[in-house]
Amino acid sequence: MQTQEQKEFIQNVTEQAKLHGILKYLPNGDLTHAPFSLSPYSMTEQVFEEMAELTIPFSDLMIQVSRNTDFLAHHLEPIATIDPFLKMLMDCRSSEITQNCQLLVHRNDFFIANIKHNDNRNFHTTHGIQEKTVLRQVELNTVSASFPFLITKLNQLHKQLFEQNKLPEVVKNNPLDAVVDAFADAAQNYGLSDSVMLLVVQTDEKNLFDQLGLELHLWSKYKIATIRKSLTEIYTDGKLNQGHLVVDGKIVAVTYFRAGYTPDDFPAKEAFKGRKLIEASSTIQVPDLGMQLSGMKKIQQILAKKEVLSNFVSEDISIRLLKTFAKMHTLDEITNTPEFKISPAKWLSEHADKYVLKPQREGGGNNYYGSEILKFIPSISKEEQKAYIMMEKIQPETHSSLQLVNGQAETLNCVSEIGRFGVCFAENGKVKNNLDAGYLVRTKAKNENEGGVCAGFSCLNTIASFDQY
Ligand code: ADP
Ligand code: MG
Repeated sequence: MQTQEQKEFIQNVTEQAKLHGILKYLPNGDLTHAPFSLSPYSMTEQVFEEMAELTIPFSDLMIQVSRNTDFLAHHLEPIATIDPFLKMLMDCRSSEITQNCQLLVHRNDFFIANIKHNDNRNFHTTHGIQEKTVLRQVELNTVSASFPFLITKLNQLHKQLFEQNKLPEVVKNNPLDAVVDAFADAAQNYGLSDSVMLLVVQTDEKNLFDQLGLELHLWSKYKIATIRKSLTEIYTDGKLNQGHLVVDGKIVAVTYFRAGYTPDDFPAKEAFKGRKLIEASSTIQVPDLGMQLSGMKKIQQILAKKEVLSNFVSEDISIRLLKTFAKMHTLDEITNTPEFKISPAKWLSEHADKYVLKPQREGGGNNYYGSEILKFIPSISKEEQKAYIMMEKIQPETHSSLQLVNGQAETLNCVSEIGRFGVCFAENGKVKNNLDAGYLVRTKAKNENEGGVCAGFSCLNTIASFDQY
């Protein structure tokens, strides 16, 4: 039961959130605040720093992978034969290279595994590098890494509540400026005054305010205008002029994809033509197609193999990245291993709860968990199984959190997923600018599998300052 004072506090904080622009639409069209937590997440400074220091090497890795067409084709083409969406994406490639610059705005998501802090302190070091870590990477989102605006605004709200003695102090966070600066730098690099940013959008966007906040900030800080269009509209309203992408009469310096990662974004062949039009131009894509393909779960699974990763990074970096990877397998690897002498069906029935089954999709709601895996696998052919990877289910630390969803507050036993934003600009594969751009925390009830904020599963959150840990 909440006291009158608590009720008033919740009501006041909810209105403050709206005032900050922390907004979303409900399915019925009503406007409400985006879900957020009033319990900043506690973690050690050491783990926080370790996570932040991984951003730059991960960006370097992804730039290299994205440029390695043969590597991507080798691992993705067999899946494309059974996954029409992946095939369509791969078919978007132009035969000639029309762009030499790429901008990556990514978010690298982690859980902190449930290992006692004492164990963490006792982790050994070799060559000055700790051998183990509590960090477990969920995935690196190369396309449409959302929330730079909303999370920056939540940080401002939490800071204000701290100043009013209503919340603990929180760690400063401002991915909004870093992302907007990167867009402006890219536009400047393109070199034409009066050019614009094209935001590729979904027609039914649930996370609209995160995008509008970015657009507004890009305008107020740099006077760079944004055009919002779906892929279909880009085909209708766009054209090529001397290699430039021109939409509504404006040259597009930067094309930022907040759509184009799910089959729903390609309702008709015109959308595919829109995607190809972008590809055929010299606009700087965020991300380009190679980078989008590099973010596929299959590539994540392959890069988790030491011998593959070592082709792309130094040994020191490889050690640092590898220890954050959860176990990942193809279904074949699991069911054909000699140590599993039992039948695949029996093995799965005993182990399904320890895994997440993932297809080559983004945007949430595509994965299978526990008993869903057991039902799903027998329903697809051996050939179709190639399109999925099995990832060990990470068991994160749990903590209590006061969650605010649509004006209602509830204290729940939760887990928190922490993302690091990274921005990286490369010219002909040569990295020119590479930086960590701040964090995202999403806190959700312990038994919730997926992490969508706008779908209402999880709440945006901040990190409590370390002296309180
Ligand atoms: P998508 O690209 O569709 O967002 P993700 O791989 O990011 O798919 O998974 C969606 C959500 O599911 C994650 O944000 C996380 O909360 C949960 N999840 C994914 N993989 C794991 C895992 N290995 N262990 C625990 N939870 C996971
Ligand atoms: Mg994802």
